[in-house]
Amino acid sequence: MPPRAEAGSAHALPDVARLRSELRGPVLTPSDPNYDETRKLYNAMINKRPAVIARCRDAADVMTALRFGQEQSLEIAVRGGGHNGGGLGSVDDGLMIDLSLMRGVRVDPRTRTADVAGGCQLGDLDHAAGAFGLATPGGIISTTGVGGLTLGGGLGHLTRKYGLSIDNLLSADVVLPDGNLVIADADQDPDLFWAVRGGGGNFGIVTNFRFRLHPVSTVIAGPTFWPLDQAEEVLRWYRDFLPNAPEDLNGFFGVLTVPPIPAFPEALHLQKVAAVVWCSLAPSAETERLLAPVHRVGHPAMHGVGPMAYPALNSMFDGLYPPGHQWYWRADFVQKISDEAVRLHVAHARELPTPQSTMHLYPIDGAASRVKAQETPWAFRDAKWAEVIVGVDPDPRNAHRLRDWTVGYWEALHPHSMGGAYVNFMMDEGQERVQATYGANYARLAALKRRFDPANMLHVNQNIRPARA
Ligand SMILES: Cc1cc2nc3c(=O)[nH]c(=O)nc-3n(C[C@H](O)[C@H](O)[C@H](O)COP(=O)(O)OP(=O)(O)OC[C@H]3O[C@@H](n4cnc5c(N)ncnc54)[C@H](O)[C@@H]3O)c2cc1C
Repeated sequence: MPPRAEAGSAHALPDVARLRSELRGPVLTPSDPNYDETRKLYNAMINKRPAVIARCRDAADVMTALRFGQEQSLEIAVRGGGHNGGGLGSVDDGLMIDLSLMRGVRVDPRTRTADVAGGCQLGDLDHAAGAFGLATPGGIISTTGVGGLTLGGGLGHLTRKYGLSIDNLLSADVVLPDGNLVIADADQDPDLFWAVRGGGGNFGIVTNFRFRLHPVSTVIAGPTFWPLDQAEEVLRWYRDFLPNAPEDLNGFFGVLTVPPIPAFPEALHLQKVAAVVWCSLAPSAETERLLAPVHRVGHPAMHGVGPMAYPALNSMFDGLYPPGHQWYWRADFVQKISDEAVRLHVAHARELPTPQSTMHLYPIDGAASRVKAQETPWAFRDAKWAEVIVGVDPDPRNAHRLRDWTVGYWEALHPHSMGGAYVNFMMDEGQERVQATYGANYARLAALKRRFDPANMLHVNQNIRPARA
């Protein structure tokens, strides 16, 4: 690990002036008026103070900033959308290479592909592709960074039908730790292309993602809520129903507190419920037929499913989760949900510590499961769900309550899981968890890390350590 610069001091970095003269984007140090606003991460539980923030405008800026960081022996972090739970888009006293000004998307409707700049948010991609009635799998909140989400895997409403985001990645422009930019795809630099499809930001800084797009415009979507006292029956039904449903139908299960907003009946406001959020690519009448069994499970308190534009679905929860809240995450991959696991889920749901805290089970079967475990770094292709438990609240005074509930819930359910977790749903949890997550693919990742980043310069991430020679 390179030595750290003097804490937070611009005076320790005489060459900041040179970096400013070379970069098209702004360069900030702690004495700049915009510094505090710019360094903020989505998760306010994490408060890091980089010595320098290089706000890159293009790939040339990224190459220059990376070289600068190396020359100055600064620890380097790369920020895409800044959503990472563990705050891995920033670093104390080091250099933050900030991609958040790089937000261009170019859609080619003839080839059904999109070129997406490295700092885009999902909403940028949904907006641009949605204009053509096209989309590619991504997450469920539009402010999440395409960069971090894709490099870790990427799952959401389209996963059962079209796979993970990495399964739709056609090429990546990667600024390597040695300062060169390469365009990696299945034919050119196939090892690098393999590594970036799940290996996180370990192998380079991606300045452009090229995705395959699919015809997706209006979807039939929305939530069904059940009172929490019916949650055991609902989850037992869901675990059998969804894996047997056609891949046009996606539905993630959750336990949550109904937000007190006009979109939901007042009688449900602030009630704890079991929920499934549906997204169907089938026509309306067919979706109604597919979802008919839902009405026979317990007594749904609300079934709010209807047609909407896919980008609208993907930004539906944005208002509930603005930047600046406290977040504490734990996750696992799950293959089977036993009766005991059902019981434990519901017991912990009763103790949801704050209105925004939640647990989701995201389906990752269907198209995602047809890719072989060695084809990309994502090792758990046989998992049926990615489980995530998140304690969320605006008030920093509740941070310990979020943590205690999340960890307690996770510890109870972990024995019922497959061991590893989706890297993008983890905090900074250490090597053992990273290795468990990549499983049999870790050795190849470590060998490629040695090839592309032998000094582990890009280590502010779910770190893959270079294999020993
Ligand atoms: C509210 C919320 C909802 C979410 N929903 C989903 C979901 O539905 N599906 C899902 O799959 N995930 C979801 N996530 C998890 C999300 O995928 C991760 O938080 C991810 O790390 C976010 O990426 P980012 O670019 O915003 O984060 P950042 O904090 O900017 O970066 C995360 C990591 O990726 C690296 N990185 C980012 N961009 C680049 C790049 N261009 N080149 C190289 N390295 C890069 C960073 O260095 C860092 O290590 C959600 C997260 C939040 C907070």
